Amino acid sequence: MALKLDTICVQGGYTPGNGEPRQIPIIQSTTFKYATSEDMGKLFDLEAEGYFYTRLQNPTNDLVAAKIAALEGGSAAMLTSAGQAASFFSLFNLCSAGDHIVSSSTIYGGTFNLMQVTMARMGIETTFVNPDCSPEELNAAFRPNTKCVFGETIANPALSVLDIELFANAAHAHGVPLIIDNTFATPINCRPGEWGADIITHSTTKYMDGHGAAVGGAIVEMNSFDWMAHADKFPGLCTPDESYHGITYAERFPGKAFITKCTAQLMRDFGSIQSPINAFILNLGLESLHVRMPRHCENGLAVAQFLSQHPKIERVSYPSLPGDRFYSAAQKYLPHGSCGVVSFEIKGGRSAAEGFMKQLRLAAIETHVADARTCCLCPAASTHRQMTDEQLAAAGVPAGMVRMSCGLEAKEDLINDIEQALAKA
Ligand SMILES: *Cc1c(COP(=O)(O)O)cnc(C)c1O
Repeated sequence: MALKLDTICVQGGYTPGNGEPRQIPIIQSTTFKYATSEDMGKLFDLEAEGYFYTRLQNPTNDLVAAKIAALEGGSAAMLTSAGQAASFFSLFNLCSAGDHIVSSSTIYGGTFNLMQVTMARMGIETTFVNPDCSPEELNAAFRPNTKCVFGETIANPALSVLDIELFANAAHAHGVPLIIDNTFATPINCRPGEWGADIITHSTTKYMDGHGAAVGGAIVEMNSFDWMAHADKFPGLCTPDESYHGITYAERFPGKAFITKCTAQLMRDFGSIQSPINAFILNLGLESLHVRMPRHCENGLAVAQFLSQHPKIERVSYPSLPGDRFYSAAQKYLPHGSCGVVSFEIKGGRSAAEGFMKQLRLAAIETHVADARTCCLCPAASTHRQMTDEQLAAAGVPAGMVRMSCGLEAKEDLINDIEQALAKA
């Protein structure tokens, strides 16, 4: 019986046996005991499943990862210490020095920097394309050494909606998988796997936790991409791994080759594990994700509608607002709502935006989004300050833009707060 997402949010990933704890146990242990060296050796050889050291895997994390896999309809998943680690691992699990990535240009500033600066230093180049480019422009971005395509369902903070089907078709036509960062939509509002995404990443720090309590990330494998059919492009998955006694991941681990390799190699070598207590906190958030998301969306739409009619506002971006540039894409990919984040430009540019933000009483100035409490920031003055004006424009983030993340408060109170702050700005 296929369960509904609401039920998976509450009960997915963990079914306690007789007399076992109802809530998932926090296994706060770095290590695990074995009767014989042979038992442990089997774990090291990936011949048996089990735990030996929490830098690689932890039982609490795996229960929560299993819930996230079920929510996305995936076949395997892992948690990471942060969303940034999830983005990096998902890319680096496929790319080596000399390889190439095609990415949407409107992505999270941290991910842009990861590709443009840090991964470039590792010899991995990225070509950025407009999220609403034509199929011809998208195809032209590919090279023989392209190993994956990357985009965000709803971009942070540009709020563009990706044509996931278009990007998936282009990726697959070139024999590479599509990676989608589904942080803002969450599986409640969009399941990118249904539109062709092969790997899905999350910053669980955002709506999945939802309470501003724990930084974390997740990677989900969809079991949709045939690695062996493109073995020449993905030797890491399709040829023996000498650091694991000659295991070939795509042959030995059907449905979880990507996650197994990512755990065995990248967690082993980089150690970006989520702490078990953070995974427990994340799971508390997941239990109410399906109840919270509709309310975030209701508040986001109400605030977007109010702002769009206000004389001091130049422009509002909110994909679920009729007339928005991405409204039709949102109707297709996000029919039940997009997210709680609204971005807008106040007339008067950066100084007017900063003056407005100072007057807000309920919405706090924070480097955060997707919290139960409403918050806001000016991206050009904070998260995106390393970018040039041209890069800001390409990323859809003009200098005077305010990004407001609508929380779970009463929408009337949020609108009153914005109204009084605009009156003083
Ligand atoms: C915040 C965010 C990230 C980075 O996640 P952290 O948990 O802060 O490392 C990546 N992608 C998107 C879309 C985000 O909003």
